Amino acid sequence: MYDFFCYFGIIYIDGGDTLVIGVLVELSSKNIDKMFDYLVPKHLQEFIKVGIRVEVPFGAQTLEGFVLEIKDKNNTDYELKEILSIKDNDIILNDELLELGKVMQNKTLATLISCYQVMLPKALKAKQGSIVNKKFDTYYRLNEGELNVKITSKQEELVNLCREKGLVKRSELVEISLSSLNTLIKKNILVEEKHEKYRLSYSKEIGTKYPLTDDQVNVVEEVLSNDGYYPYLLHGVTGSGKTEVYMELIEDALSKGKSSIVLVPEISLTPQMVERFQKRFGDNIAALHSALSDGEKYDEWRRIARGEASIVIGARSAIFAPLKDIGMIIIDEEHSESYKQGDSNPRYSAKDVALIRGKYHNCPVIMGSATPSLEVMARSKKGVYKYLSLPNRVNGKKLPLVRIIDMNEEIKSSKGHFSRNLVTSINDKLEKGEQVILLLNRRGYASFVTCKSCGYTFKCPNCDISLTYHKSSNTMRCHYCGYGTKVYSTCPECHEKSISDLGVGTQKIEEEISEIFPNARVVRMDFDTTSRKGAHEKMITAFKNHEYDILLGTQIVAKGLDFSNVTLVGVINADTSLNIPDFRSSENTFSLLSQVAGRSGRSEKTGEVIIQTFNPEHYAISYTKMHDYLGFYNKEMEIRKTLKYPPFYYLCHIKISGKDMEYVSKEADKIKRALTRNLLNTNILGPTPSTIFRVNNIYRFGIILKYKQEEKLDETLLKIIDHYKGNNKIKVDVDFNPSQIY
Ligand code: ADP
Ligand code: ZN
Repeated sequence: MYDFFCYFGIIYIDGGDTLVIGVLVELSSKNIDKMFDYLVPKHLQEFIKVGIRVEVPFGAQTLEGFVLEIKDKNNTDYELKEILSIKDNDIILNDELLELGKVMQNKTLATLISCYQVMLPKALKAKQGSIVNKKFDTYYRLNEGELNVKITSKQEELVNLCREKGLVKRSELVEISLSSLNTLIKKNILVEEKHEKYRLSYSKEIGTKYPLTDDQVNVVEEVLSNDGYYPYLLHGVTGSGKTEVYMELIEDALSKGKSSIVLVPEISLTPQMVERFQKRFGDNIAALHSALSDGEKYDEWRRIARGEASIVIGARSAIFAPLKDIGMIIIDEEHSESYKQGDSNPRYSAKDVALIRGKYHNCPVIMGSATPSLEVMARSKKGVYKYLSLPNRVNGKKLPLVRIIDMNEEIKSSKGHFSRNLVTSINDKLEKGEQVILLLNRRGYASFVTCKSCGYTFKCPNCDISLTYHKSSNTMRCHYCGYGTKVYSTCPECHEKSISDLGVGTQKIEEEISEIFPNARVVRMDFDTTSRKGAHEKMITAFKNHEYDILLGTQIVAKGLDFSNVTLVGVINADTSLNIPDFRSSENTFSLLSQVAGRSGRSEKTGEVIIQTFNPEHYAISYTKMHDYLGFYNKEMEIRKTLKYPPFYYLCHIKISGKDMEYVSKEADKIKRALTRNLLNTNILGPTPSTIFRVNNIYRFGIILKYKQEEKLDETLLKIIDHYKGNNKIKVDVDFNPSQIY
């Protein structure tokens, strides 16, 4: 028997079979990053499970939270509040995800609640006031029992249909009059039922599959010959048939009754890619990407959790898909920065999470790329990841011929941004009825300072990284070490007065195309033109059907597209990404150029590539020309070693921000001093103002740590975070292994 008094919602317990639960509430603050105990009223006790959401009173507010612990029959003699309601029937955070959240918290130093929230679609996050509905279809079935009421022949038809089919969907009853239906329901002959429905559907139709090439077979057999958890690097040139290999491996997992995750960068999660998986696996797939509505994401999540789809294809957060029994995890375009969440907490890497889940499920983790990241390649050279390779294109075609155009000279005779070579080549393709992809390289937002006449770019004397232009103060700064100088008006190299900060848009290039190639049909694809739902898909289909001759775009055209009639890829400006003040700028440029080059000549017709650059001697460009990944890798590794960057050193980026610039700057100096006192094996750089120094009137500073091994790192950082946790004038975030630090 219960034995308590209840005053204003507060329950004084005096023994008895009470149920106490630990709840992690929705507020993400280091201050309250712990469980709070609540009582469960008797009528709700049987529904309580670990991993569901409940509504609780919290101070004066009502909050949602996850049940993390059931402290059964706890004899507490202190005051506890009762939970208000239960939000879910089904478990949202299963045991694996609950554990994973804790590991992520340890790795990222973010709040535990933020680690759980990032795993879930909006509909399932713990958050007051966010409502995403399920959709339902209406069905009819025969009521059990004898049918001894007189009915009309029309009604009889309906009854027979239900008898035959068991359950009949309302939309199937177009021919039948509403009044007969209503009468039958009124007479209790038919019963109306609501069944959940999903907003998306996939075709069940499956296409034919290719017999694998010998190289592909070797890779598949190698993976299948090792049991259990193993990470692999699949290094395969563009068009070498990596995707076919993934599908074969997934099919093997399926045959063992296991599920799979395929991660692709958002940008290459094209309808083309999804269609390939659909044609192989029918409606056993779920595709998670940012173009889905909250309702669609909710539906896909439920399909996955219920085991109605065993193959999940998605961008970064799809790594948290609530699949049970995973047999294969694939990370395509492993080198992509998009696998790292860098702009909000928890700053996690989907690759790390993939390895954790791979271990948990004891399954292979395949990281594929034509241009593996240095970190992954270095690990595979050490044998930490097993190296698999597809060195040739499937169709036996050579990789396209790459020509480099030196714009330093050419700029005088070019038409706008088009060199004479590029113009000739485009005209040639247009005449032959072939198609062209043009890449306008526009990575990031940093503007760097360069000389228009000789291409000279200002670099930091200490860091070998481009200086960033600060318009407000008319200065150039290094964002790694803080070096700064005023902007010169004459170029120190060629002494011309042609210094400018760079920046050109796709619209400008589109205008130039219509002047130079008046008869060409152009489709422009960038983040502006593809943001509308389905726009991306329409453009790709139209280009594939040759409704356009030229596809012009930003990074979005570099990845994952497979058009057989494209025989020329032109890169308008290779240098933009090269000059971004980030230690990965060469790597990113090499990989971008190699990827976009890989779009050319994928079918019978031989392809070519033209790259326009002011830095023809730069190794990122010359190794692209030779399709020499290993050459690039070796050269870049030397540089990383000298400059103490990954993979030789770890990086940690501490981000310090707040409204009051002086205060934040002073505290940043204090943090630096605390770090210096405690971290004796770490190189500490900064604090320096961030490239985008002010965002929404918040000023941002960064400190960069370079270290190989630093035992006191986590402890020191946690102390610092803890020190500022109640202080709303300043925010301190840490980003381990940042994907970018400019
Ligand atoms: P990657 O992912 O390495 O760029 P894909 O898997 O997209 O390569 O393959 C490139 C092209 O070759 C695709 O059009 C694909 O359908 C085709 N392909 C892949 N494997 C085979 C095969 N074994 N036989 C015939 N065509 C194949
Ligand atoms: Zn510097």
